[in-house]
Amino acid sequence: MNSTETVINHTKKLTEKLGRKPGVMIRTFGCQQNEADSEVLMGIALSLGYEKTDDEKKAELIIYNTCAVREHAELKALSITGQLKHLKSENPDLIVCICGCMVSQEHRLSQMKGSYPYVDILFGTAEHGKLTDYLADKIKKGGRYFHPDTDYSIEEGLPVKRESSFKAWVSVMYGCNNFCTYCVVPYVRGRERSRRKECILEEVKALVADGVKEITLLGQNVNSYGKGLYTDYDFADLLEDICGIEGDYLIRFMTSHPKDATEKLIDVMTAHSQPDSRPRIARQFHLPLQSGSDRVLKAMNRHYTRERYLSLVDYMREKMPDIAISTDIIVGFPTETEEDFEGTLEMLEKIRYDAFFSFIYSIRKGTPAEKMEQVPEKVKSERFMRMLDVQNRISLEKNKEYIGKTERVLVEGRSKTDGDMLTGRNEKNRLIHFEGDDGYIGSFADVEVISADTYCLTGKILKK
Ligand code: SAH
Ligand code: SF4
Repeated sequence: MNSTETVINHTKKLTEKLGRKPGVMIRTFGCQQNEADSEVLMGIALSLGYEKTDDEKKAELIIYNTCAVREHAELKALSITGQLKHLKSENPDLIVCICGCMVSQEHRLSQMKGSYPYVDILFGTAEHGKLTDYLADKIKKGGRYFHPDTDYSIEEGLPVKRESSFKAWVSVMYGCNNFCTYCVVPYVRGRERSRRKECILEEVKALVADGVKEITLLGQNVNSYGKGLYTDYDFADLLEDICGIEGDYLIRFMTSHPKDATEKLIDVMTAHSQPDSRPRIARQFHLPLQSGSDRVLKAMNRHYTRERYLSLVDYMREKMPDIAISTDIIVGFPTETEEDFEGTLEMLEKIRYDAFFSFIYSIRKGTPAEKMEQVPEKVKSERFMRMLDVQNRISLEKNKEYIGKTERVLVEGRSKTDGDMLTGRNEKNRLIHFEGDDGYIGSFADVEVISADTYCLTGKILKK
């Protein structure tokens, strides 16, 4: 019996025993790449005879897909893994898998091996496509299984169960070669490797044919797309080819490293996002700055300066004056002085981002910054609050500029904070709340903006 037959046989037996299909519950921590990986894990589990559940008591397979980018994410995953102990003792049929970036670190893998005996299967980020084999081993032989990452080759054609019927992630590449000194990603996700363009174009075509309205292309540094695979085809060429696919949809992409973002890419965006036509590419660009100090950027191994960054922003705004730019900032990177930090605040004032994601620096084991002179916690959190004040004021001012305008919004669902309101995002990725019935969910609607606050807009729906 091969692995697939073994697992299907197992889920059939469980179905007879339980009077329902065995449940699978997947919990995802961290970034969009992890969400995309979890959709593959769910696709595989469903193809093997499991049924999706959000109730852990009805789960015969629980998978936690973990994050390692900051300590907080790891502590959270470890803490909820601890809570699985009682479920495992209550349900003898339960198989527990912990996977993802946290497990791709040797020290965490051995910690979980030793201190979490009720975890059956541990695997990292590189080979989640082998879930069927991992489960078959467990079912056939019992015991516990630990799979460090070894094979980083790309596996195409795995089943995918997408969370949304109208929004989709499409990975264009995996891994990272940049080794920013604070970051664990290159260690846990391996070296850069790109998917073949034919596979990406086919996937996008199929999604558009299925009525998907928003597709986000994913990669740790999308501008490295194609390196090592093609000599004369890059991310801008890929975007151009994707835009040739007919249909009513919007493309986003992330993340662009400022050292590699090209004028060619900005030109392709400009051509396919003209406001007087139906834009194919959203006029929104995520360009992580990380720090506004040249000295800190050098210590971070980022390979750009404030000047280079500002010239990119100028070029974008010259070509697309209404483009929304967002960023990531790390506060309290080792050795950051008050003057360095003020450089970051100055960049926020200069650039006036539409949105930002800010992080307090978190020490990551095995990275060069771990050994650098650390900034005291108190100073880090005080700077963090000062930075939030600056950006919150700018965000509010920028949001107010939308009042009275009509925005085309992809309606995503009910607001989590107010069930009477629908929620969605405009092309610029701004969150907008408005009243309306469920029939709008999953389609574009025109919404007139009535009021604005720091994090979202409120509006009135005009028409579908
Ligand atoms: N490849 C992407 C995303 C990497 S992780 C990029 O280069 O932008 C997402 C964000 O987490 C980073 O942009 C950075 O701002 C933040 N981050 C990464 N490592 C961190 C650390 N050790 N402490 C705090 N924030 C970190
Ligand atoms: Fe991490 Fe830098 Fe790679 Fe982004 S580019 S994943 S921040 S090492």
